[in-house]
Amino acid sequence: MAKPNLLMIVPAKWSGLWTPQLNDSAVHPVVHGEDAYAPDGIDYVLGFRPPPGLLKTLPKLKAVFSLGAGVDGFLSDPDYPKHIPLVRFVDETLSAEMAQFVLMHVLIHHRHQRLFDAAQPKRQWRQMTLPRRTEDTRIGILGFGEIGRVAAQHLADLGFPVSAWSRTRKKGPGVKSFAGDAELEAFLAQTDILICLLPLTRQTAGILNAKTFAALPQGAFVINVARGGHLIEKDLIAALDAGRLSGAVLDVFQTEPLPETSPLWTHPKVTATPHIAAISQPAVAVRFVLDGIAKFERGARPDNIVDVETAY
Ligand code: NAP
Repeated sequence: MAKPNLLMIVPAKWSGLWTPQLNDSAVHPVVHGEDAYAPDGIDYVLGFRPPPGLLKTLPKLKAVFSLGAGVDGFLSDPDYPKHIPLVRFVDETLSAEMAQFVLMHVLIHHRHQRLFDAAQPKRQWRQMTLPRRTEDTRIGILGFGEIGRVAAQHLADLGFPVSAWSRTRKKGPGVKSFAGDAELEAFLAQTDILICLLPLTRQTAGILNAKTFAALPQGAFVINVARGGHLIEKDLIAALDAGRLSGAVLDVFQTEPLPETSPLWTHPKVTATPHIAAISQPAVAVRFVLDGIAKFERGARPDNIVDVETAY
């Protein structure tokens, strides 16, 4: 029996990371932009941000695999064929690495590490910059899904009071649950460090805005590791310049790569990183797509099929 054709829609520099691992597998890899292919020969797609309109040109497509945990890069395509199952990448290592990134920046902020970094070249011995008590530094996580839950657990283990905001109410020890739009303001009012781990959907786009920043306690700190579309960048800069917020860590941006002209590169209260909080490991992602295709081929369905109505 012929192997199913897997169309890979990945940035040019990435395809070499994947194809060697797929060549001897149960699928036949085809790289969009590198290999010639007939649209009606494609059975599956693996990718991140396919060109809008491309997927609807594949008449025999059986399923789509997202290389990232977020699927906004697929569902923002108005022509996305909604009847085709979309499977997202959920992986323990990815969640653990995201949680590490979040923890690192919470601690850098909480322990005033940037002040010590600035003092060292000036040979200043500044002992009396005491951190706030851990139990007084309230962490609020927007989104309590695969990654939010892992980050919340680690932060609670360190002794921070942690709350999380989600669409549906959560039960369980250690993390205070706020649910739905009606409880967003109360959640924000008790959050000193706000961490965005929401999926990017029509409901959550632009949620990190001037109104949100005004609802946080004075001097709150913001970490956005979810998607650039969650943040209104000009509102963040205004809130930082007004002293309303004390700082921000941004791993994701409205435009990526972040343009050289962006004021976020040089803002003294911003730490900017190039969307590296967690990157899907090729070997794990290859396993994910091969296992998923094997399931579809025998008439079963893999885990983590996205609900196209809620868009996550
Ligand atoms: P997930 O498992 O889908 O979790 C989504 C969470 O958000 C759930 O708790 C959900 O509530 C909540 N939510 C969704 N819509 C909401 C709404 N309108 N109001 C309130 N809560 C809402 O997502 P994940 O896998 O943890 O991923 C989180 C984010 O990280 C995504 O944006 C992803 O793209 C991003 N990410 C970034 C990187 C990076 O390198 N920077 C790497 C991986 C992932 P319910 O629990 O009630 O459903």
